[in-house]
Amino acid sequence: MSDSARETPVDDGKGDGTRAVRAGLPEPVKHEPTLPGPVFAAHFHLPGEPTGAYTYGRDENPTWTLLERAIGELEAPGRDDVETLVFASGMAAISAVLFSQLSAGDTVVLPDDGYQVLPLVRAQLEAYGVQVRTAPTGGDAQLDVLDGAKLLWIESPSNPGLDVCDIRRLVEAAHARGVLVAVDNTLATPLGQRPLELGADFAVASGTKQLTGHGDVLLGYVVGGDAGAMTAVRRWRKIVGAIPGPMEAWLAHRSIATLQLRVDRQCASALLVAQALRERPEVTGLRYPGLPDDPSHEVASRQMRRYGCVVSFTLPTRARAEAFLDALRLVDDATSFGGVRSTAERRGRWGGDAVAEGFVRLSVGAEDPEDLVADLLRALDASAR
Ligand SMILES: *Cc1c(COP(=O)(O)O)cnc(C)c1O
Repeated sequence: MSDSARETPVDDGKGDGTRAVRAGLPEPVKHEPTLPGPVFAAHFHLPGEPTGAYTYGRDENPTWTLLERAIGELEAPGRDDVETLVFASGMAAISAVLFSQLSAGDTVVLPDDGYQVLPLVRAQLEAYGVQVRTAPTGGDAQLDVLDGAKLLWIESPSNPGLDVCDIRRLVEAAHARGVLVAVDNTLATPLGQRPLELGADFAVASGTKQLTGHGDVLLGYVVGGDAGAMTAVRRWRKIVGAIPGPMEAWLAHRSIATLQLRVDRQCASALLVAQALRERPEVTGLRYPGLPDDPSHEVASRQMRRYGCVVSFTLPTRARAEAFLDALRLVDDATSFGGVRSTAERRGRWGGDAVAEGFVRLSVGAEDPEDLVADLLRALDASAR
């Protein structure tokens, strides 16, 4: 791709609200609901040859079908050559891609600053004879370790450090070497970034976070344009059985109707929160890709249409961070992110991430931004005493 094509801005987000509200809805049928309720079925009537769409509940379910259509419309609007598969969780989706595409002797490139379960996945891949290389997300460092790999795994923005890599550039380099590319799109959501349009072979995500946004559902998905590769992912879902329940699938679909409202509100508030925190002397290492002077901003602005709802920063000590979290009234001290209710946590309590003791990951919810900013500033003051 030429430099000018690479720098062509992705579209301005117009139509995302309409798309989210209508995503995956079936054709109207008189007296039928606009979004049919969950179909609870372990098996379906199936006389004669066992063919057709719905045979057994581990293979297919009509509630999944509508949700998969909805997610596909958001991740790859206007494309009918992509397949979407939903899973019981983000990790089920991630494992489905990694373990269906890689075999003993293959090499995979993972980020070394990605989701905290990736090191466990790495150990399992290695136990199966897959060679694992890692490099940081920032500075496109994964470029240097692509030779001879089968699959490149990208997480951008990375969680929790919020570094960003140039996805188009990495995809170009990977494809030139015959390397498949998967992008974890959890933090951005399909309204923030569309990896398939940036050239990736798979968009993979945890729907547990902002996609569903209410902190009450675990879900994952894989969207891909390569039919052969997706057949292997589908087979993996069937043999492992990491499938979502119909109720979860239906709740997820219902929640997607408000995705654009939530994402726009939460991203706008996250920027205001980041701007307010930046003025505080006790806050260091503040990161938000939407801040014009953030190290991620330049690359992010070329491939993202919204910058997410997560802000990260460091307070001077572990005790200060704990006192701050304790003093918050509108922000729950909880893990995960993307929900309508703001959450924050001291990330170092889990171990694993290379973060300072006072590092805080804050997920900005849908509260009124002025209330939220006031609560954060008040808690910062309270934690200094
Ligand atoms: C939460 C998360 C996952 C895992 O998703 P689950 O639904 O918890 O299994 C994977 N990647 C990222 C970036 C996440 O934030």
